[in-house]
Amino acid sequence: MAVRFNTLCLLLLGLSGSVSARGLEIEGVWQQGATLIGRVEPQAQVTFAGRQVRTTGQGRFVIGLGRDAGTEAVVEVRSGGGELTRHTFAVKQRHYNIQRIDGVPARTVNPPPQSLQRIRRESALTRRARAGDLPREDFLQPFIWPLRGRITGVYGSQRYYNGEPRRPHYGIDIAAPTGTPVRAPAAGKVTLSHGDMYFSGGTLILDHGHGLSSTFIHLSEILVEPGQEVEQGQVIAAVGASGRATGPHLDWRMNWFEFRLDPQLVVGAMLPAAAPGRAAPP
Ligand SMILES: [Zn+2]
Repeated sequence: MAVRFNTLCLLLLGLSGSVSARGLEIEGVWQQGATLIGRVEPQAQVTFAGRQVRTTGQGRFVIGLGRDAGTEAVVEVRSGGGELTRHTFAVKQRHYNIQRIDGVPARTVNPPPQSLQRIRRESALTRRARAGDLPREDFLQPFIWPLRGRITGVYGSQRYYNGEPRRPHYGIDIAAPTGTPVRAPAAGKVTLSHGDMYFSGGTLILDHGHGLSSTFIHLSEILVEPGQEVEQGQVIAAVGASGRATGPHLDWRMNWFEFRLDPQLVVGAMLPAAAPGRAAPP
């Protein structure tokens, strides 16, 4: 309900017009890292971030905002009658923290020259797996946590590894013992399964349709194969500490095509009752 309320606020502020009159409805808060679910009339065409956006038979679609998205976003809707409307939204800017992680394997902070080719090859595989635009509608499901545990890393943090600045952290880290089952947060199709990538170790990518995907890294075991379709809640992998990691945890990332999204904005709060090491609420 909070989501709807925020959309309503934007409407009241005049940043968007009335939903029915302007032919566009958006669920979600316009902020960096957000995943937004939209609806238009079934015949309408949607353009966002320079991309023609796939819509379902009911006019539903998904778009996403990257970590460093600018202050304004524009959704263009062409109605079935051919009329084009530009919808402009203000994007809330976030403040990201700094996180220092010491004790990761030195080769994962400063890769030797002979590893660069492998690293490039692997990042091309990952890019390709996230580039698909499948007509699946799994993105409409309410997402669930892939496992429960202490959150040790959040989306967007500026990271220093062994004291050296590196790219920001794009996932959410959940600490759990090696071997802990990882469940599909929503249904999807496996588009990448790799036992040992240079930085990310055991890596699995699940496509939820329309460009929305989940990536799970540092896995010790992967239980599904590329092309396989999985149900929400199905065990797909096991937690590990492979790649650039100091201990066993799940790193869950989400993408809308190349844009990095914040999984925590999609799945909501983890219920404290089920988080290990915390007291259950009365
Ligand atoms: Zn991580």
